[in-house]
Amino acid sequence: TLSLIALHPSSSMAACTTTNGASHKIPGRVGDGPIPGSGSYVDSTVGGCGATGDGDIMMRFLPCYQAVESLRRGLTPQQAADDAVRRILARYPDAKTGVVVVDNRGEHAAAASGWEFSYSYRSGGMERTEVVRVKSLNEDE
Ligand code: ASP
Repeated sequence: TLSLIALHPSSSMAACTTTNGASHKIPGRVGDGPIPGSGSYVDSTVGGCGATGDGDIMMRFLPCYQAVESLRRGLTPQQAADDAVRRILARYPDAKTGVVVVDNRGEHAAAASGWEFSYSYRSGGMERTEVVRVKSLNEDE
C-alpha cells in the first residue's frame, strides 16, 4: 500500500491510496485502499489521513474518516491516529493496522499495530526525506 497526503502552502490538501492488495489478491476484491474514509480521507479545513493493514477488517471502521473527524473535534494527529487504531483493536486485537494523520498545519503522526510500520515525510524546506518508525500500539500490552 502507498498512501500520500499532500499539503500545499495555500492550505489545500489532497490524499490518495494505492495498493495491489498484495496479501489478498483475490479476483474481484476491492480492498480498503479505494474506499473513501478507509484507505484515505482528507478535508483541507482539518487534515488528511492514509491507512493500510488488514483491509477487510479496516474498511469496516473507516479509520481515516474517523481520524479526520477526530482532528475536527480537537484531537492532535497522534491522538487521532491512536484513537482510530484502538477502535479497531477493541474488536480485532490481532489486526495489522497503520494509520498516518496530518493536520492542515503540517503536524503529522501515526499509529499502528501488529507489524513494524513506518512512514516518511518531507516539506519544501527539508533537504531530505525523514523516515519515522512507529511502535505497535499493542506491542507492550
Ligand atoms: N491494505 C491492503 C489490502 O488489504 C493490503 C496491502 O496493500 O498491504 O488490500
